[in-house]
Amino acid sequence: MDRDSMTQHHHRPHFARRLLGASAIALAAALAPLASAAAQQAAPASTEAPAKTDPRYVWDLTPIFKDDASWDAARKQALADLPSLDALKGTLGKDAATLRAAMDRMSKVGHDVERVLVYAYLQYSTDTRNNAYQERWSLAQALSAQAQAATAWVSPEVQGVGAEKIASFIKADAGLSKHAFRLNDILRLKAHTLTPETEAALAALGPVLGSASNTYSALANADIDWPEITLPDGTKRKVNQSAYQSLRQNDDRAVRKLVFDTFWTKFGQYATTMGNTLGAAVQTGTIDAKLRGYPTAVAASLANNDIPESVYRTLVAEANKGLPTLHRYFKLRQKMLKLPDLYYYDIYPSLISLDKKFTLDESRTTTLAAVKPLGKEYGDMLAALTAKRTMHVYPSEGKDSGAYHWGSYGLDPYIFLNHQDDYNSMSTYAHEWGHGMHSALASKNQPYELANYSLFMAEIASTTNEMLLTDYLVSKAKTKEEKLFYLGQSLEGLRGTFFRQTMFAEFELATHDAVERGEALSGSKMKDIYCGLLKKYHGDAEGVMKIDEKYCAEWAFIPHFYRPFYVFQYATSISAGTYFAEQISKGGAKARDNYLNVLKAGGSEYPYPLLKKAGLDMATAAPYQALVRRMDATIDQMEKLLAE
Ligand SMILES: [Zn+2]
Repeated sequence: MDRDSMTQHHHRPHFARRLLGASAIALAAALAPLASAAAQQAAPASTEAPAKTDPRYVWDLTPIFKDDASWDAARKQALADLPSLDALKGTLGKDAATLRAAMDRMSKVGHDVERVLVYAYLQYSTDTRNNAYQERWSLAQALSAQAQAATAWVSPEVQGVGAEKIASFIKADAGLSKHAFRLNDILRLKAHTLTPETEAALAALGPVLGSASNTYSALANADIDWPEITLPDGTKRKVNQSAYQSLRQNDDRAVRKLVFDTFWTKFGQYATTMGNTLGAAVQTGTIDAKLRGYPTAVAASLANNDIPESVYRTLVAEANKGLPTLHRYFKLRQKMLKLPDLYYYDIYPSLISLDKKFTLDESRTTTLAAVKPLGKEYGDMLAALTAKRTMHVYPSEGKDSGAYHWGSYGLDPYIFLNHQDDYNSMSTYAHEWGHGMHSALASKNQPYELANYSLFMAEIASTTNEMLLTDYLVSKAKTKEEKLFYLGQSLEGLRGTFFRQTMFAEFELATHDAVERGEALSGSKMKDIYCGLLKKYHGDAEGVMKIDEKYCAEWAFIPHFYRPFYVFQYATSISAGTYFAEQISKGGAKARDNYLNVLKAGGSEYPYPLLKKAGLDMATAAPYQALVRRMDATIDQMEKLLAE
């Protein structure tokens, strides 16, 4: 779970539930990060011991399909059902009963397609080398794409029927209430939808318009000829992306510097080409926004979930106000690492090591104890779910790295882990079960159509669990070192997920703003923007950390820049999670219930008003200040421990 570059973080396939009628571009975008994340990851080392292949540690997929043959039968059935969806074309405006029947039918097929996708993906991720798994996963994706195509007419037709008629149908037929959110959402976007001919032309050009990210990925992952370095012990290492990610944590400062110098100098040589690819991606976004009548690209992107632009801009402004706290953390880091000064290559080594094992059973019992403040309902449900065979626990040959949660509505959530019995594994366990519980509570309380929550909400439950876990561990720690370790890990999480992701978000805003002002974007201009941000965030002028200009080539490396206005959601989520954890541990059933109601609401409401109802206005400073406050309190605690 490397939150830092987000190339190796827990990824979950972000599509499916409201699959039918969703835009094909959204699906392609959802699939893209998966592919790139997998491509950049080194295969996990095999630590397979006989006990770890015990069926208790390998999930049971039979609740989804009893065997591969049933999966294939369901896939073929769904394919055969698709023409019946096409046949509904032209009927949606007839009357309420016809609209309800059509929407029910699309839900049914959408749910069937979801199960086909989930089963195939879960299987595939456990051994990506397995040909049968690969084939099933690509057949499932093909089915999903065909389902999208078979329902591409739905949005334009609903928009054509119009708000007034749709509202009268919803009023007349109670069976339409569960479809109302989706119907109204389609109507809301009418003003930003182009004529069918233009939409079709843009959709046809989609693969070309999105090709900048493929070029980036081909260059960064395949074509660059990475230089070799010699480590102090005489071994030679090629400094490619995965070597960079592991060597930058090296305890030997000279190794870190060598790795940074080598990797970023090499990346910097491609600044002109990368400037063209990223510049093209930014241009595409701003042109698309303009065509659709949005004031800015950021507004267009946030409109998908009806998030006010002020949320994004408040996040950036508040992170800037919180920089003195980030700098305090860097000062503490310098002191703990006993360094005479601090450079950018000093941010990755751990502050303190902890020689302690956390088995799967310990991860479970500790997580259950840590989430006690969430109440009995939550605790009982989590205890019951984690006792089932819904986890794929240990690393093995061919298994994808990282961790994720996915599942299908009406079934228990599935959790994919690479548990290595260390602290990070336990933290990931608590994190992924946060996702799992969010989905389980939403499934239990919402119909299929309203259960799926948006990306903006997705990391709140997971980070709340992480906060509660840290608080619990610190309170139970037996030694000063153990306490310092948990607190240090927590600080690193806040830096990587809040400040670093917001720095990325600020870069995206600056590059898009520049294009929208009519300025040209080049590699050297992007380097200047990025350098300014690196220096500001790391306190170069304040003497906190020196930023060598070479390392400013980092802008060209961040794959998420090809999916703009996305990473800010990690920062908003961890802020919301911090806010909720703070409110809940202050006590009070009200705060807890507010939080649980957010989870139970699933996707029945837009994220911004949903959180507001729970007392949290994401367009105000409150959540971001809660995060900075927590960071300050953590530093205070550590400084006190170190002074003892
Ligand atoms: Zn997550």
